[in-house]
Amino acid sequence: MDISACGPVDLAWKLWIYTNYDCNLKCSYCVAKSGPNVPRRAIGLANVCRLVDEAVALGFAHFFFTGGEPFLLNDIYDMLAYSSERVATMVQASEIRDGMTVIAVLQAALDRVSIAKE
Ligand code: SF4
Repeated sequence: MDISACGPVDLAWKLWIYTNYDCNLKCSYCVAKSGPNVPRRAIGLANVCRLVDEAVALGFAHFFFTGGEPFLLNDIYDMLAYSSERVATMVQASEIRDGMTVIAVLQAALDRVSIAKE
């Protein structure tokens, strides 16, 4: 078969951004091996903005923010707002527990929120 005759494959490119590795929970199934005593290793707002810009330029269509627990970071709302202004943005979280957090998430205009349960 001549593969060159098939043309480009239209894939919806998805970028996963691990914002940090610490988490308030310690789930047995956690692929990131996150937990309360895990070093934070946060990526930081400036790096997220740079990654978002580069990924948008490359044609990525969806961004997923995960960790660790992204909502342990003070600048997560700025990260989500920056991303959601440019591309479909989703976040996985376990820490959405109060009204202020819910309002902040809604203001970030996210496309999806996924909540983990220990
Ligand atoms: S909530 Fe998510 S990041 Fe935290 S320990 Fe559980 S699976 Fe890992």
